[in-house]
Amino acid sequence: MGMENKPNKPHVLVFPFPGQGHINPMLQFAKRLLSKGVKAALVSTLYLANSSFSDSSISFSFDHHTISDGFDQGGFNQAANAETYLSTFCSVGSRSLAALIMKLGETGHPVDALVYDSLMPWALDVAKQFGVPSGAFFTQSCAVNSVYYHVWKGHLQLPLPRTRVHLPALPPLQVSELPSFVALHGLYRAWLDVLVNQFSNIDEADWVFFNHFYELETEVMDWMSKLWNVMTIGPTVPSAYLDKRLQNNKDYGMNIFDPNASACLSWLSGKPKGSVVYVSFGSIASLGTEQMAEIGWALKQRKGYFLWVVRETEKPKLPDNYIKETSNKGLVVTWCPQLEVLSHESIGCFLTHCGFNSVLEALSLGVPMLAMPQWTDQATNAKYIEDVWRVGIRARCDNKGIVKRETIEHGIKELLKEVGEKGKEIRKNLIKWKNLANKAVDAGGNSDKNIDKFIAELLSN
Ligand code: UDP
Repeated sequence: MGMENKPNKPHVLVFPFPGQGHINPMLQFAKRLLSKGVKAALVSTLYLANSSFSDSSISFSFDHHTISDGFDQGGFNQAANAETYLSTFCSVGSRSLAALIMKLGETGHPVDALVYDSLMPWALDVAKQFGVPSGAFFTQSCAVNSVYYHVWKGHLQLPLPRTRVHLPALPPLQVSELPSFVALHGLYRAWLDVLVNQFSNIDEADWVFFNHFYELETEVMDWMSKLWNVMTIGPTVPSAYLDKRLQNNKDYGMNIFDPNASACLSWLSGKPKGSVVYVSFGSIASLGTEQMAEIGWALKQRKGYFLWVVRETEKPKLPDNYIKETSNKGLVVTWCPQLEVLSHESIGCFLTHCGFNSVLEALSLGVPMLAMPQWTDQATNAKYIEDVWRVGIRARCDNKGIVKRETIEHGIKELLKEVGEKGKEIRKNLIKWKNLANKAVDAGGNSDKNIDKFIAELLSN
């Protein structure tokens, strides 16, 4: 690459949206850049830096800069609502990011490129003021991004008629399989605006990064590559689980909640191979009491074991005495080291909300998924899990929107190969995807080559 001959390593700021599902992939991308000789630096909000990064063990020597989102004491939860948070973040964040870029320039550390989370197109506008080349980083799937792109372009007029939609390079999608911000138009106005606005200035971005690998969404990638300088650089699962080329890269290095690591791992260590159902709905999704009860029943009724992540704020929704009554077969924790859990041989399947990171992690680690999407992009991911990648099955809801205990129980049985043939086929497919994911990030793989290409383009600027 000739990096050795360059007097200064390119200085790249990596700026994720302050949420677990955004920080994880972008931090991991920054580590890949660092491992290839780039001076990658992380930009996070003051609140996150003070609350989550302070005592975590980021095993990489990042420069870490902070900016303000306007809510330095409490972040998103300090804001009255999503609208207020997002618009304040845009105005305060723009000024704060501009001040940072200026300060770095003045102190002899000029920024050579900005990689910003696509949810914050205003970061691109800031970088342009300083002539800094920029790349948008998308943390959702290309299918999902493409749906939002068509809304932005006016090809998909909202509200949608109650039918299927046909979009270029995507399978026909039922309205219920579209991102909820689109399907349930009007319910999540502020978030829909953010996702649609990802494309407001995208034509000015020098690079467009996607957190997956080419084979996962070949058709839509080919389609998108006609529009922008697109690069798949993932999956951004830590290297220890894939190519193993990066030293000490076993986790993302930042947790918004405290993971009960030793409790989870010692509990798992005694369990038979493939016997545990892992259940998690990620960092944001919130279930109703009735739905919690159905999951609770399904897990309690089964003979096998379960590990269920129930965040502190969700705990009051558990049935009375549930933890006590199931302690012989289940462990309920408020957060866990998900990668270590998914890669543990005792895990048999994953009941998941289908957050894109969780999906990529399960797919890369070979864990069959029982898909129970809740909102945002998850229904589209669930469709792909079942029908396109064929690495899991959907647990469908009844006409009141509840996934019943029998449905969950049956899904688990299928994935654990206790009934039917689906479990077998899914496991076969998972071996294929796991290998492809590994190949993509390993030396000379698609994603690896794209990262090299990005660095080469940086050096030639
Ligand atoms: N995660 C974790 N411990 C948990 C649950 C989730 O470390 O108990 C991690 C998970 O590995 C993933 C991220 O949190 O990287 C969640 O991102 P995802 O896109 O799956 O869902 P979101 O939280 O954004 O809805």
